[in-house]
Amino acid sequence: MSDLREIINPATEEVIAEVPALSVKETEAAIARSAAAFASWRKVAPGQRAALLRAFAANVMSHKEELALLEVRNSGHTIGNARWEANNAADVINYYSGSVERLSGRQIPVAGGIDITFKEPVGVVGIIVPWNFPMPIASWGFAPALAAGCTVVLKPAEITPLTAMRIAELAHEAGIPEDVFSVLTGSGRIVGETMVADPRVKKIVFTGSTEVGIHIQTVAAAQIKPVTLELGGKSANVVFADADLDKAAATAPYSVFDNAGQDCCARSRLLVQESIYDSFMERFEEAVRSVRVEDPLLESAEMGPLISAGHRKTVESFVDESMVLFRGSCPSGPGYWYPPTVLEVSDPNHRVLKEEIFGPVVAVQTFSDEDEAIALANDSDYGLSGSIWTSNLGRGIRVSRGIETGNLSVNSHSSVRYWTPFGGYKRSGLGRELGPDATDAFCEIKNVFINTDI
Ligand code: NAD
Repeated sequence: MSDLREIINPATEEVIAEVPALSVKETEAAIARSAAAFASWRKVAPGQRAALLRAFAANVMSHKEELALLEVRNSGHTIGNARWEANNAADVINYYSGSVERLSGRQIPVAGGIDITFKEPVGVVGIIVPWNFPMPIASWGFAPALAAGCTVVLKPAEITPLTAMRIAELAHEAGIPEDVFSVLTGSGRIVGETMVADPRVKKIVFTGSTEVGIHIQTVAAAQIKPVTLELGGKSANVVFADADLDKAAATAPYSVFDNAGQDCCARSRLLVQESIYDSFMERFEEAVRSVRVEDPLLESAEMGPLISAGHRKTVESFVDESMVLFRGSCPSGPGYWYPPTVLEVSDPNHRVLKEEIFGPVVAVQTFSDEDEAIALANDSDYGLSGSIWTSNLGRGIRVSRGIETGNLSVNSHSSVRYWTPFGGYKRSGLGRELGPDATDAFCEIKNVFINTDI
């Protein structure tokens, strides 16, 4: 019998479920079953594998509201966000069902024969995900992996496993065999470490903190095991004087306080051109004070609680009250609430400008010109996302090219579209997820030469 872990609703602090925390032995047994299932899954005809994935996507879509409500209870996400997340998972599975029949190799001209490349599934894929977006992030890994013909062992974060468990049931109901897609609940130290160290797991997709990512890459390197790493961020929202200030200010809270700031793409540094500082900040303050932080089940909720009491302590530890410019409001409790908070920081090396806070806290800095804006945006070990607000198209492109980051939006705060690639520069990660080429990360390329001269 596995140990059980209590799962807590962060908006009420109530225990809502108990979930098994698997042991090393149980994890290894699941990996063995996944490796055995790979032998038959890889041989499933492409049309049939695509049909199974389509049925899986349809099943997730028809349970979207149930999944969204489950996520609100487990993660404290607003109901609006949770609906988007369930929908995103269904869309991602549906999108990669279309890559099964398109997964083709090449025929390359050579003398004396024919040269062909095959894309072959790597085998068992271990997918390790964090607690901040449990459904989308899991699907970005398991959907292309299953489409490529790999089997999947998925480890959700210990505190937010419920939607992953339900999604696996929906996969099995749709006809995907249990050992082809299994969810292994438990701790990173036991289940996660075992998955990374086990040689039967041929590839790891890890989303989480940079510290754990470095450890995983080190362990995987001993086996030359490929890893995709989606790690932390400290992205900048850069507002130029020629921007539409009303729009830039009205949307800036969303860019950092969405999901209570527990977003790797959060624009937690706000860079404002000096000449418009006062007029922009006046509008921004009004927008921040109007963010609705409330019961995430309410349709009107724009921000819910933080994920746990421990995480709230971490967020609080960054905020020196003397730096607070202004903040919004939040309920007093129960629940792990924290208000949207705006800081002014004079020391460019202060930790609020350097470290990922992962909460609803943004630090404001000013710049004089384009070069300084790019230099400040790049003054970070991370490079995941960011926004540029300007009405000058040339500037939008120049600054986009100058900022060392994997995903940028001009006059928008979008970060992720499932049909475009997503991933980070610098300490934000390695490799890309999503987009048309994501299945390649789950394939070996085999090259075969056939001599036609005999
Ligand atoms: P975390 O690194 O603590 O944990 C992530 C996952 O790794 C969890 O499932 C955890 O159980 C597991 N884990 C922990 N130690 C492990 C080990 N030694 N071996 C194997 N697995 C282990 O991260 P978190 O606190 O859950 O999530 C927040 C972090 O995730 C933030 O840094 C955030 O920026 C990052 N994140 C990045 C992206 C991205 O796409 N770049 C997306 C979301 C979150």
